[in-house]
Amino acid sequence: MKTEGLSINLATVRHQYDLKTGVEALVKHGIRGVSPWREHVQAVGMTEAARIITSNGMKVTGYCRGGLFGGADAAGQQALIDDNKRMIDEGAAIGADCLVMIGGGMAPGSRDIKTARGRYLDGMAAILPHARACGVALAVEPLHPMYAADRGCISLLSEAIDICEQLGEGSGVAIDAYHLWWDPDLENQITRAKGKILAHHICDWLVPTKDMLLDRGMMGDGVIDLPRIRRMVEAAGFTGYQEVEIFSAENWWKRPGDEVIRTCIERYNTVC
Ligand code: ZN
Repeated sequence: MKTEGLSINLATVRHQYDLKTGVEALVKHGIRGVSPWREHVQAVGMTEAARIITSNGMKVTGYCRGGLFGGADAAGQQALIDDNKRMIDEGAAIGADCLVMIGGGMAPGSRDIKTARGRYLDGMAAILPHARACGVALAVEPLHPMYAADRGCISLLSEAIDICEQLGEGSGVAIDAYHLWWDPDLENQITRAKGKILAHHICDWLVPTKDMLLDRGMMGDGVIDLPRIRRMVEAAGFTGYQEVEIFSAENWWKRPGDEVIRTCIERYNTVC
């Protein structure tokens, strides 16, 4: 079965593999795209992480995840700026196509989502010169609105594109089917994102969803029309990988890694 154009976000096999064993498992199945998280890289250090990636001939379709400026208070903002700059260095070391930057939630006790959104834009603007200097693109990833309070104050693709238009060169968007499938304006906004799409994440929306964070579905097990979204993204000029990103505490994280990867390949070929 075809594995070309398929990438696996290592969160999908978070409980089965670390960076080295994860990459080796993907290679064994013929997959050449990977998206690691900071925990994977920091566990071995940037140099060793880069060696693992390069020696296995892997394409890094994204590096997860940063941003999170929304929930900061004024004092916390600088610490987040510094930490995101370190993430840019890590992303450059492993040759990441882009860094996935989510909004962050609202500050504790706050009822002011507008300020949270403003902090995100300010934080992104503050780190962008360093990202440009390192040759790493920043991908604004809108999250489903159920996370707006505690995790991602940027919810709509239209907002993400607006932010990119303000930030300019070196910024773009990550289109995650799980977060955006429900948006009635999705097709228009993906068209509008032409030239700015840096990543395309896939999984499925289960009915019922039993956990807001950790019950994402394997492609084909839920209600998202993934081929339709892929067609929109490709019509907007994106030619990169489809990246499987599944957080699934009670199902896929409990299965053998080989089975999870095999299933991703099978669904990529039959569903996506
Ligand atoms: Zn995603």
